Amino acid sequence: MADYLFYTYFEDGREYFVYKDLTFERSHKKEKDFPFLESLLLFTYLDIWPMEGLFKEMDKALLNFYRERNTDSRGIVMGTLEKLAKEHIFFEFLRLDWQSRFRCAEGHDDEDIQTILPHKQLRHIPSDLDTLQKQIMRLFEDVLDIDDGKKKPVHEKLQAYLDKEKRNSLYAYQFRPISTTYERTNNATFAEVLHPTSLSDLVEFSLRECVKREQRMRICSYCGKYFAIPRRNTAEFCNLTVDENGHTCREVGAVKRWAEKKNSDELFKEYRREYKKRFNWIKAGKISPGSFYAWSATAKGKRDECASGKMTFEDFKEWLAES
Ligand SMILES: [Zn+2]
Repeated sequence: MADYLFYTYFEDGREYFVYKDLTFERSHKKEKDFPFLESLLLFTYLDIWPMEGLFKEMDKALLNFYRERNTDSRGIVMGTLEKLAKEHIFFEFLRLDWQSRFRCAEGHDDEDIQTILPHKQLRHIPSDLDTLQKQIMRLFEDVLDIDDGKKKPVHEKLQAYLDKEKRNSLYAYQFRPISTTYERTNNATFAEVLHPTSLSDLVEFSLRECVKREQRMRICSYCGKYFAIPRRNTAEFCNLTVDENGHTCREVGAVKRWAEKKNSDELFKEYRREYKKRFNWIKAGKISPGSFYAWSATAKGKRDECASGKMTFEDFKEWLAES
């Protein structure tokens, strides 16, 4: 019997995680909530390889623990899991689960200990996650990307994605059974609730929901990562990636777009002013129509180069002054 509580559900466009350590009477039930799909997306983009050392350390400590049953080894594993729990909410589940496993191991003989504390489960997390991340990414690309230019329905695209597995093993995510309950949530309504028994349960629950909803996904024009967009929404930037100053792509991207628009307005104004000035030179007999039209064709080309960012506005103005 698990001595902790950890469950998750979706409600009103958000995802909820509720957890509590049941062995401490006074431990408070913690609740965290995020916009729908945020935890899965952050998990999909989690940079796991720099953390590989942590998993190796835990593996070593566990092998030590099998032999010596020492508190130091247990401390290394639990200390590391606490660090990981701060990185991602799914690892909070892992922490509670392993804490409970260690407690359970206390009353068991040596033969059982490897079953209760399976070191390979932790050791394999980086490579398992790496495979999983690639499969999820392909699911977004092949099935849910709304900019893929394909007008096919989601269920057809999903079938094609799953079929690719036959030719290309480990290509597609394989849906598997999970057990959920239908119960009353903290907001006093009812929802399908998952009490996970593994990390992959959490991924499955999110991924299944996202396919069921035919969630539209788009690559953020700023950070280049997938994000979920609500229906009838034309968002171009995500609200997920945060830069070193604490600004999301949506905030930074909006400013960038505004600056681009302002620059481009000035660029066209500059071009039109110069165009009119030189057009009047024809009437004044200062230049021939032929040389005017030759100039205007080149100027237009330069203007478009500048608008697409191939040339700076300063260089364009300089060219105008000299031509
Ligand atoms: Zn972004």
